[in-house]
Amino acid sequence: MDIKNLINGEWCVQSGKETFDIINPCDGQTVEGSFKNSTNDDVDAAVAAAKKAFKTWSQLPVAKRCRILFHCKELLENNLERIAEYLVKENGKTMAEAEGELRRGIEVVEFAAGMPSLMKGDIVEGIAANVDGLIIREPLGVVTGACPFNFPAMIPLWMFPVAIACGNTFVLKPSEKCPISATMIAEIFRQGGLPEGVLNVVQGGGETFKALVSHEDVQAVSFVGSTPVAKSVWHSGTTLNKRVQSLGGAKNHIIIMPDADSEQTVKAIIGSSFGCAGARCMASSVLVLVGDADKLLDDIIQAAKNIKLGNGLDVNTQMGPVISAAHKKRVEDYIQIGFNEGAEVLLDGRGVTVKGYEKGSFVGPTLLGKVTSEMRVAKEEIFGPVLSVMRCDTLQQAIDIANTSEFGNGASIFTDSGSSARQFRVGIQVGMVGINVGVPAPMAFFSFGGRKNSLFGDLRAFGPDAVEFYTMKKTVVERWFGNVKTGSIWSK
Ligand code: NAD
Repeated sequence: MDIKNLINGEWCVQSGKETFDIINPCDGQTVEGSFKNSTNDDVDAAVAAAKKAFKTWSQLPVAKRCRILFHCKELLENNLERIAEYLVKENGKTMAEAEGELRRGIEVVEFAAGMPSLMKGDIVEGIAANVDGLIIREPLGVVTGACPFNFPAMIPLWMFPVAIACGNTFVLKPSEKCPISATMIAEIFRQGGLPEGVLNVVQGGGETFKALVSHEDVQAVSFVGSTPVAKSVWHSGTTLNKRVQSLGGAKNHIIIMPDADSEQTVKAIIGSSFGCAGARCMASSVLVLVGDADKLLDDIIQAAKNIKLGNGLDVNTQMGPVISAAHKKRVEDYIQIGFNEGAEVLLDGRGVTVKGYEKGSFVGPTLLGKVTSEMRVAKEEIFGPVLSVMRCDTLQQAIDIANTSEFGNGASIFTDSGSSARQFRVGIQVGMVGINVGVPAPMAFFSFGGRKNSLFGDLRAFGPDAVEFYTMKKTVVERWFGNVKTGSIWSK
């Protein structure tokens, strides 16, 4: 598949020389798509198209903008399986994971389609004699967004539907590792009747996004990716006085109390730590066991051993490969680092092969025991199916362990005790908290985001925070002299 730029409603070939090939991570061979990088000229053209479209799009009544979004949502639903299949091919996740990802993204389109109520302003009539005070929300202008490889379809949908529903126009830069599903989604919105220039797509890597962030006609920047890049995007954007929301990496803790329901807890840990091959910013990657939990740990190891690896398009597959051979090496290196630091390899996912996919980037579920706070496997984001296991005696010690992390995306507790759950909810320093929930990702009508090095900026992705982020407020103080002359009751 030829992966192109979408500029002013037309698909066009990038003018760069560098070629990006999208290799299927399951067989390590099939080229699922290719594209050339975008140059500064391509970036300029996309931003110019978005700037031009902003003039009319921002003036279109919000209800009309949302009617187009409704139609696009329907088209997305009708094409869900087709897009999910490409998502599996470019990313390696299972079909169920790909369909789930798309459904979560579509929920954001549903949320955005409610924009007529969401972007309502405020009014206080009669703040003085014949004087009214109003707050109006207005769109910002051209917004850009860049996405990571792990949710290459859902994260674009976190960004542009809310932005355009508010009246902005958008330049999207998909992940260069997985651009196919995002590009297909953009085509759906083009077919769904989005006017030319409202949504533009520019393909490329970090240099392309840097050019977008620093472009003088770009007003705001949405970013999701690793912490070092999130920090630098936030720094560049805010230095240029732009609005930036920049979501970074994670290291999420899951605390198990002795009174937790063991069957449900094991199920939730397996899903949270090994779902999407551990490449989720909400994956639990550190398990903190409070008190004696040997039996539970044995059950987790057993369940992890039984996970069936394979091609995500096979319905029996429970876990696909990691994104690339380079990422497989990175994950395997971390397992070795853990071992060298004194961790016990309770289950080793290195060196696994899957019949028929011998060149695939598979890493099996891995558990590292006897992990301590100072080890790199306790602190750093691995982004693979590796679960570090720590132990302590009290809930407060477990909360303290989690709170030492430089990240603050999510954390969960499994317990049957309301007071333990409350102690955890109050004491834990993360943005998203789970109580007997392995992946506490908020629904589209809340907002998504962490703390510390997991989020730069004040406002989180989608939900009400996104409406706040993609609009600016104007206050109006209004007086009409006619009422004074006619002696209306308000003039008295
Ligand atoms: P990445 O940071 O390598 O890339 C993300 C995006 O940034 C890509 O579009 C890439 O082209 C662009 N980019 C790369 N270098 C850049 C630079 N110097 N300047 C500007 N843009 C640049 O991340 P990834 O490997 O694709 O994704 C995995 C990471 O994303 C993990 O760390 C994961 O935790 C994080 N993530 C976070 C969330 C969240 O909500 N907090 C969600 C999903 C993924």
